[in-house]
Amino acid sequence: MHQHEVIINKIAQDKIDFELGTKLILENEEYNFEILFVTLKKNIFNSIPDKTDYNTKTYQNAINTIPLKPTYTPIVILKNFSTKIAFNKLATLPKNENTKTIISLLWIFKATDTERRNTECKNGCGHFWHENLNPI
Ligand SMILES: [Zn+2]
Repeated sequence: MHQHEVIINKIAQDKIDFELGTKLILENEEYNFEILFVTLKKNIFNSIPDKTDYNTKTYQNAINTIPLKPTYTPIVILKNFSTKIAFNKLATLPKNENTKTIISLLWIFKATDTERRNTECKNGCGHFWHENLNPI
């Protein structure tokens, strides 16, 4: 696993504080929006059980509790468009929205992954990132 993936999963599994983990991601010298966006999108979509609309109560609850101003563009997009369309729009936003997008996606993944760990993964799963997270 790449370092950013380890940190993303540590945030999701509450093994690192959300704010601290987000800082580690955003201030990493290898920070790359495109790579982070693709990774988080894949992780979020994989963790949502509904593969048709990629929408669940947990997902809705997550986008309604993102710890940023609700008037920020990425949040407005997430709230007003279906999941797949919203993610397509997020990918094309101007650069100055990138940080807000990454924070939003980290928050959503923490919620959807936590639900998955508490349901589907509860009695053991083959996801190596759920069973063995190497220290950073
Ligand atoms: Zn799992």
